Amino acid sequence: MARVGFIGLGNMGGGMAANLAKKGHDVRAFDLSAEALERARAAGCLPVVTATEAAEGAEAIITMLPAGTHVEQVYAQSVLDAALPSAILIDCSTIDVATAKRIAEMAAAKGLVAVDAPVSGGIAAANAGTLTFMVGGSKDAFGRAEPFLADMGKAVIHAGANGAGQAAKICNNMILGAEMVATCEAFLLAQKLGLEAQAFFDIASVSSGQSWSMTSYCPVPGVGPETPADHDYQGGFAAALMLKDLRLAMAAAESVDAQVPMGARARELYEAYAGAGHGGRDFSGIINMLAEKP
Ligand code: NAD
Repeated sequence: MARVGFIGLGNMGGGMAANLAKKGHDVRAFDLSAEALERARAAGCLPVVTATEAAEGAEAIITMLPAGTHVEQVYAQSVLDAALPSAILIDCSTIDVATAKRIAEMAAAKGLVAVDAPVSGGIAAANAGTLTFMVGGSKDAFGRAEPFLADMGKAVIHAGANGAGQAAKICNNMILGAEMVATCEAFLLAQKLGLEAQAFFDIASVSSGQSWSMTSYCPVPGVGPETPADHDYQGGFAAALMLKDLRLAMAAAESVDAQVPMGARARELYEAYAGAGHGGRDFSGIINMLAEKP
């Protein structure tokens, strides 16, 4: 088992660090929040008082932070100076592709090896150790990161060179955002046409309208498996985080001149939903906004 530095113990990182400790790793955990540090201690990690202390002597240094600015700052101020030359640097945060590439270049300039390894799966998957990791970096770097990621997830997939993990993540979530909106509007139209939600679910879930938003995360309460819709759209994947990912996808599309009309519309709709004060609700709650007359 290895010494692991873990920086960022929030909703996602808290569970991930706990799973590494459960697997027997010596986890040196750091967060700006004293509460998060206490939770990490209770989960078997050793809380430390600076990011530098978490990084020193670690075989793997994992970051799970809100956005690119946080990751770049933590790397520049702590990780890059403190890391052992043999350490593998793994950023699991969802950040923009350009920053992910820049961080890898900053690391390489110091003789260090970094990968971007964003995740699919929310807080429940982070706690259960069933995340999917999509990894950007060299083959060798992937091989070094994989055992640590496997201790926190059910699938670890090499996406390509540095930045490819983030590209996979935002493209996946762009599908999800557009698909959820389409699923919500289909249920609402079906209802206005006199079709029961259960009947429409039974048909669409085994027809060509089937999708993850339909069969695994149905936005209508009482239909399909238990989802945030059954809990007044609490918990799950916050609309504000979907909006964050759609914004990253739009910025990436602009940077390479890609046409993303459905993604752009999904971004506008999630901006309206989050802007109306629902950013903390599950992203499937957008069905309530679509049900209202403008
Ligand atoms: P969070 O806000 O709950 O946690 C972030 C943590 O980082 C906080 O505890 C904060 O105190 C800490 N932090 C911020 N700056 C720091 C610094 N300089 N040094 C140390 N700690 C610092 O966020 P989260 O929900 O855990 O998400 C983390 C990342 O995972 C984000 O990039 C998010 O987009 C991504 N993600 C989240 C989900 C989800 O369902 N929550 C799913 C997939 C991906």
